[in-house]
Amino acid sequence: MNFLPLIEAKREGHSLEPAQINAFIADYTAGEIPDYQVAAFLMAVYFRGLSTTETKALTLAMRDSGDVLRFPKDPRPLVDKHSTGGVGDKVSLPLAPLLACLGFRVPMISGRGLGITGGTLDKLDSIPGFRSLPPTERIVDIVQTVGCVICGQTARMVPADKALYALRDATATVPSIPLIVASILSKKLAESLEALVLTVMCGVAAFMPTLEKARELARALVALANEAGVVTRALLTNMHTPIGRSAGNWLEVKESVQCLEGRGPDDLRELVLACAAHLLVQTGKAKTPDAALKQAADCLASGKPLEKWNEMIVAQGADLAAFHRKLPLDHTAPVVMELKAPASGFVSRCDARIIGEAVRDLGGGRFTKESSINYDVGVDAIVKPGEAIQAGGVLARIHAADQAQAEAASALLEKAFDITEPPPAAQPLIAEVM
Ligand code: URA
Repeated sequence: MNFLPLIEAKREGHSLEPAQINAFIADYTAGEIPDYQVAAFLMAVYFRGLSTTETKALTLAMRDSGDVLRFPKDPRPLVDKHSTGGVGDKVSLPLAPLLACLGFRVPMISGRGLGITGGTLDKLDSIPGFRSLPPTERIVDIVQTVGCVICGQTARMVPADKALYALRDATATVPSIPLIVASILSKKLAESLEALVLTVMCGVAAFMPTLEKARELARALVALANEAGVVTRALLTNMHTPIGRSAGNWLEVKESVQCLEGRGPDDLRELVLACAAHLLVQTGKAKTPDAALKQAADCLASGKPLEKWNEMIVAQGADLAAFHRKLPLDHTAPVVMELKAPASGFVSRCDARIIGEAVRDLGGGRFTKESSINYDVGVDAIVKPGEAIQAGGVLARIHAADQAQAEAASALLEKAFDITEPPPAAQPLIAEVM
């Protein structure tokens, strides 16, 4: 196709026809439109936006650019959860096996972290033997037999998003709401879902720092997903503070297992149960929110989701014996250093952005897509806002590859905490449901 008229039209703020968008995605995926033209188009979209009709057309065309997962008929609804990304956000790990035990099928296609936000696949890759990239047929097979899988998108799934995302990343066009919506939902729609719950993060470490921007993104995601036939809700979730008490790949796997054991931090458990409860209501498996929450909590307490987790990681290649030998270790990084409180009082700020930066700098995250990851480093035992601390008490522990890196992280993390005499006003974990 001659792509130039589409760039011109978007530059002038005109709307494109769905057929034009379909042709663009088909030709771009086939390598027939150069990146420099698509980069110009993306920048025009960044400034001019896309209408709801255009965003829908783009989303569906991107979904159809590769394999769409097809599942056999089955009474268990196909559901998933997607997070817009945050620090310490390990919710998917305990949630997938919990959902499988509640009678759902969960084809959870997840991503890797970039910058300060951790990626679910990076966390899982810290499990000995775990394979995060099964082929499409195996994804379907694991979902049918185990009930849940957490894995990466295969090369054949939504290739248009892979190419466009890389280009957006390199051209400063990631933070465009219609492009984010199309990117996220093209992948979710390729899972053939019946229901979806989204945690749209809002706060200093989130894509969307303000409640207004988070609302705008959530509204757009919920509207389009529902229109495309997937019953969807979004939970606007606090990302000023990390979720749970640890950030860093292996440390987060350990905390997820604690959650499955009925232990672990309250906020992680609250978010896991809230996501499960919403999906129970969305699919008609529970009549009221209270009944749904009780059903999810009872299921978690039964211990079955922990068994399901083991079943899922084994189906994905994990060496269970090695995993269970690693789990009880206090640390797997060579150096552990405590960050001490300078004064007594209440923690009034625990900055997720700074903690995310510290984890990334320790080697737990990526500066670029090519960066390699150190799975063992990170921060744990984080004291959260509202909790009391004595002078000299431990605010967090740093897990580092060497002493110099631990000291650098400590200097950074000192800026992440405020301690005040009156306790801070409590902030809700879930600010709103859409
Ligand atoms: N996550 C995605 O998958 N795509 C985006 O554009 C942003 C976040």
